[in-house]
Amino acid sequence: MKPKSPLIPAEKDESIRQKIRIMLAEGKVSAKEISMAVGIREKDVFGHLEHIQQSCRRGKEQLAIIPPVCKGCGFVFKKRTRLTKPGKCPICRGSTIEEPLYYLA
Ligand SMILES: [Zn+2]
Repeated sequence: MKPKSPLIPAEKDESIRQKIRIMLAEGKVSAKEISMAVGIREKDVFGHLEHIQQSCRRGKEQLAIIPPVCKGCGFVFKKRTRLTKPGKCPICRGSTIEEPLYYLA
């Protein structure tokens, strides 16, 4: 008896992305909110968001990002192109940073 391989079917990924797309279309959400609603790990959310971002490039919608903000000094991470939350503020070195929010625009 061979153990079953832990293959994740592509269909499951598709349906997860569909749920995420619906959330993004309805309003602004954070990666944490998406992970809780869809039932996947927060770090896996970013892979799906990247995929959505790429597929949006071909359509009329696009993935909009509200940049993360440092809670310590109010610095806005406007130039950040990565989807994940930054670890530290370059100005005050604080690590309490407001999560970025995503939506479809
Ligand atoms: Zn700061």
